[in-house]
Amino acid sequence: MNNDNQGKGGPPFNFGGPNGPKLPDPKKWSGWKFSLVYILILIVGMSLFNYVFMSKVNPVIDYSEFKQRIAAGEIKRVELDEAYFIGYVDKVPTKPQIKAPILFGLSAPEPAAATTVYRTVPINDSALVALMDEHGVDYYAVSREGSAILNFIFTWVLPIAFFIFIWRILMRRMGNFGGNVLSFGQNRSAIVAEGDVKTRFSDVAGADEAKDELIEVVDFLKTPKKYTDIGGRIPKGVLLVGPPGTGKTLLARAVAGEAGVAFFRMSGADFVEMFVGVGAARVRDLFKQARAKASGSKGCIVFIDELDAIGKSRLNNIGGGNDEREQTLNQLLVEMDGFDATGGLIVLAATNRPDVLDPALLRPGRFDRQVLVDKPDLKGREEILKIHSKDVKLSPAVDLAAVARSTSGFVGADLANIVNEAALLAVRGGRMTVEQQDFSEAIEKTVAGLQKKNRVIKPEERRIVAFHETGHALVAALTPNSDPVQKISIIPRGFGALGYTLQMPIEDRYLMTEDELKGKIDVLLGGRAAEEIVFGKISTGAANDLAKATDIARKMIVDYGMSERFRHVALTRRGLGMLGDSAPQEPMFQREYSDATQQYIDETIAGIVEAQYGKVKSTLLARQSLLNQVAGILLDKETIDEKEFKSLVAGDVYSGAAA
Ligand code: ADP
Ligand code: ZN
Ligand code: MG
Repeated sequence: MNNDNQGKGGPPFNFGGPNGPKLPDPKKWSGWKFSLVYILILIVGMSLFNYVFMSKVNPVIDYSEFKQRIAAGEIKRVELDEAYFIGYVDKVPTKPQIKAPILFGLSAPEPAAATTVYRTVPINDSALVALMDEHGVDYYAVSREGSAILNFIFTWVLPIAFFIFIWRILMRRMGNFGGNVLSFGQNRSAIVAEGDVKTRFSDVAGADEAKDELIEVVDFLKTPKKYTDIGGRIPKGVLLVGPPGTGKTLLARAVAGEAGVAFFRMSGADFVEMFVGVGAARVRDLFKQARAKASGSKGCIVFIDELDAIGKSRLNNIGGGNDEREQTLNQLLVEMDGFDATGGLIVLAATNRPDVLDPALLRPGRFDRQVLVDKPDLKGREEILKIHSKDVKLSPAVDLAAVARSTSGFVGADLANIVNEAALLAVRGGRMTVEQQDFSEAIEKTVAGLQKKNRVIKPEERRIVAFHETGHALVAALTPNSDPVQKISIIPRGFGALGYTLQMPIEDRYLMTEDELKGKIDVLLGGRAAEEIVFGKISTGAANDLAKATDIARKMIVDYGMSERFRHVALTRRGLGMLGDSAPQEPMFQREYSDATQQYIDETIAGIVEAQYGKVKSTLLARQSLLNQVAGILLDKETIDEKEFKSLVAGDVYSGAAA
């Protein structure tokens, strides 16, 4: 398969979309936060000021000095305070004054009294009382009404306020629990009861291959006995893979609807929460309910949408990783191993990122079946448009086929949106029926949006892609021992792939000859060669092809000893260190050659690629009319299948390929 990566890059999809976490109203929060922070700053600031100021005016003296000053008769009055003993040199106010507000138990300075004041740190010393009695010093404990309130604030109100504040942040991050904080373990899957799912396969169009595979799943659910009697194992997990909006969720519902079984739907994002263990508990709970449902009735489907949210590979978690997600994933694996599909429980899951899934999820007995839900082709798009315009009053002049033709790369969700948009435009224009013009306008609107997301390509680019892919396909057909072309497509797929040529090996290959490796390079270079022949210029579309071709050439020289100078010499040594579970088949290689050899390798790689490119170009040049013909059909129909391709190239092709 040759996927063409456009060099543009940018984030491929914004998955999650409407299922993403709901954010709270930010306005409600800022006021709360602001006043709390403000109060905290105020309090800390004031006490700091108080502290600094106090210590400047009334420096603390040693306890022994304090006693000496009493004994010397200097201190005539002592305030016994929790924080300090304060000695005054005058006797005037025999009663304690009403103090200015006090913070942190420190008394504020008394500006009016210019008398000398001594402070010392209190010590529980009964001799002091005796000493004061002896010298006729007035002494009293200060009752601090002011500080009682502050004490209360500090010991109770602030901690509680702080706790509530933190708690609300946590609650917000945990999503919408509706205030019920004790419902951690409960799952939030929407449970649609048996037979209640109204969706049928007839509601889904343009995904015929996926439908065919899922019809079998429906059959498992309806008549499991048919399969178990013969000793067959019913699959437990089916993974729907495809770009967003292609109808994966719709298909899962249709399976439940067709089979007439209960349907439990939950999004992967719903499992993963703030607290470790919550997701795992939810998984456990979900399966418990599902098993109960399945054993009590005809069957049950558990549908986990956006599986990648929990199923991300654990191996990519460098440095710790996400405990919560891992636990959730582990629990899911345990549950999947733990039930028996004969009980009528089948797990469906959907993802648009199969590449990031943990390999453990894809092992036999888990999601070992994968169903590709691809973007619809021309015919599929027309059918989807028909389904969605069933209840819309269309003018007889509307040509849905034309609409389909101008919506290349659109997924089902986009098309449903277009029909709706067209109907709204008709209403706005005061028309009784939807006209073609409404559709054109709706498409324009949607295209503008999709272009921003890099999902729609311009007509010129489409032409380049068509010739590029045709180049791959023709070279594949003309190369001995090359895998036959199964499908050519110029329907843009996710991740920047603008088109693809799918080659299917007829048999497992364990060894490859030098010529076959060169043949692989040829096929990879066919795309760019066709571009150069037809357009006289080359594009970035071949980046991925070139990387692969270069890699093969390098391996030929370095690993397989296929260069002239280092014939039968391996230039790398297999290291002992493995890269870990993720790539058990990829031992680490160590470079074992000089810089001069490196230069030879670089030059020879360039030489091989150059030579093959020249060969490929002349092969294609000789068949330019065929190139034009196939690319023309591709531009028209968007996909060419194996049969059609074979008939197109028949007679002109190396016939040993697909014998
Ligand atoms: P996914 O789960 O693959 O992201 P959905 O199943 O949620 O996509 O599709 C969203 C909506 O788009 C569906 O509810 C349906 O109205 C429409 N849609 C998507 N694909 C199709 C299709 N193949 N046939 C008919 N309608 C579709
Ligand atoms: Zn390519
Ligand atoms: Mg979905």
